[in-house]
Amino acid sequence: MSKSLPIRKLSPETVAKIAAGEVIERPASVVKELVENALDAGARQIRVEIGRGGIDFIRVSDDGCGIAAGDLPLAFERHATSKLLSESDLEQIATLGFRGEALPSIAAVADVEMTSRPAIADAGAVLRATDGSVVACEPVGTPPGTTVTVRGLFRRQPARLKFLRSPQSEAGQIANLTGHYALAYPEVRFSLLTDGRLTLSTPGSGRLIEAAAGVYGYQVAEQLLPLQDDEPDEEARTAAISGLVSPAGLSRATRSYISLFINRRWVRNRPLAFAVEEAYRGMLMAGRYPIAVIDLRIRPSEVDVNVHPAKTEVRLRRERDVFSTLQRKVRRTISKYSPIPDVSTKAWSPSWPTRVSLTEGEARQERMLDGSPEARAMGAGPAEQPALTRQLPVLRALGQVGLTYVAAEGPQGLYLVDQHAAHERILFERFLAAGSVPPDKQALLEPVAVELSLRQRALISELAEALTEQGFVIEPFGDKTCLVRAVPAALGDKDIAAAVLRFLDLLEAEDKAADGRERVAMSLACHGAVRAGQALSPDEMRELLRQLEETQSPGTCPHGRPTMIHLSADALAREFRRR
Ligand code: ADP
Ligand code: MG
Repeated sequence: MSKSLPIRKLSPETVAKIAAGEVIERPASVVKELVENALDAGARQIRVEIGRGGIDFIRVSDDGCGIAAGDLPLAFERHATSKLLSESDLEQIATLGFRGEALPSIAAVADVEMTSRPAIADAGAVLRATDGSVVACEPVGTPPGTTVTVRGLFRRQPARLKFLRSPQSEAGQIANLTGHYALAYPEVRFSLLTDGRLTLSTPGSGRLIEAAAGVYGYQVAEQLLPLQDDEPDEEARTAAISGLVSPAGLSRATRSYISLFINRRWVRNRPLAFAVEEAYRGMLMAGRYPIAVIDLRIRPSEVDVNVHPAKTEVRLRRERDVFSTLQRKVRRTISKYSPIPDVSTKAWSPSWPTRVSLTEGEARQERMLDGSPEARAMGAGPAEQPALTRQLPVLRALGQVGLTYVAAEGPQGLYLVDQHAAHERILFERFLAAGSVPPDKQALLEPVAVELSLRQRALISELAEALTEQGFVIEPFGDKTCLVRAVPAALGDKDIAAAVLRFLDLLEAEDKAADGRERVAMSLACHGAVRAGQALSPDEMRELLRQLEETQSPGTCPHGRPTMIHLSADALAREFRRR
């Protein structure tokens, strides 16, 4: 816990040099300012609570240095800060805040209550502000640290209130923001409570990978690769860069999983985000983006943070150098770690077939290799059809290995397909597309009562929309129980209660930051997919390969693990010394 410094008013000359502008646009901007204040105060624990997307209330509590009782009212005056002593400090900003504007700006558009106590003080004080002015400030018994509660945001600014999105959407932005701070400060224990439910928590262990697990879930975090630590000379000149990046097999549909922190400030910087994307060139499909948490430490004099009122944009003096260092470092990391699990001979190539474009004629010819009735039917089908663009050549199933892998032959050699991963991919894409068609659901003659934990009930209400879309009809029934009236046909028909519970277990383990529909689809896919150890008939194997071919991303399961490995015909010839 750092020591609390006196708060002073900035001189008019310094104020004139600070990027001005509105900082409070929505609930997430309030959370941002309060969390930054807590971090500047040296907090090791920060708890964020929100009600109805932050529109009803926001509370941020910390165990930081606190504010002396006599200074509390000053904190609510414009341009009063303890973080900037003189104009020259603007050149070397080391704290997240420095403008002394957040608290007065929040108090201007909401009711604020701030309770604070420095550890050395015997008692704390509580201050209430409404309509932009302080209405009360009195002593109070409270533990060291600071708690700020903000209620009725924009209640007196109906025009601004109208511009807010739905509570869920505002809550989503707050979760995203809190997640970013949790990643930037792995040594701080963060928790986020959304309408009373714990939706994010990190251990504050100081290890980035553990913070990433709290934010993105364990399944994702365990796959992330630490950035390679080399080229110290080159880096010393530009920036110290560390972080985590996804392997080539793990990607997302948006750029929003590329997080950049410059000197521990979460920033948006298009060029640097692009440097990360560029490092994956040729490894990801169009429209897919990596997950990356990049921590850049740059001498403060090389960074200008004073360009945007919310301080989310920064300017780097040597952006081009930083760009190329970052890109190389990410590239080296992902190329070093092979995305394919350990295989015994180095001849097994980690690559899988590159994208091939086939004309309908070629595709038909390939299918003829395959003896299935469906292939024959296609061969005899109408002549002119648009050319197919596929990522997989046609594979012919040879048999099953260890009741887990399907061995297959294709024009480019031998393939081993993980039956569970492949089936998961197929089902995932099918469930994800289900939103557009009525779900294949199974109504139960008698509703089935299932006893649920608090977390499970919270999960069901959080993902209600996505669950309904897939065919679930679940109603609360008393305190601990719910009634299941219908389930997706894919859930099976034997023991409904057991199937629902297993599905919920899977759902809970999924990447919490992923889109709700994706989470539900992934869990249904994992639930419904054939398991390792399950015998498959030749027809089933053939069908599995055929359906995998039709997916958009046949190379990986929805969690990013490979669905297959490949031994090329060339490698076979080499290994057998045929050439
Ligand atoms: P700034 O952060 O730019 O200085 P703010 O309006 O956000 O301006 O806060 C004003 C002052 O109030 C800060 O400089 C700091 O001294 C004090 N303060 C605000 N929040 C906290 C907190 N959580 N813990 C300790 N001090 C705080
Ligand atoms: Mg501040």
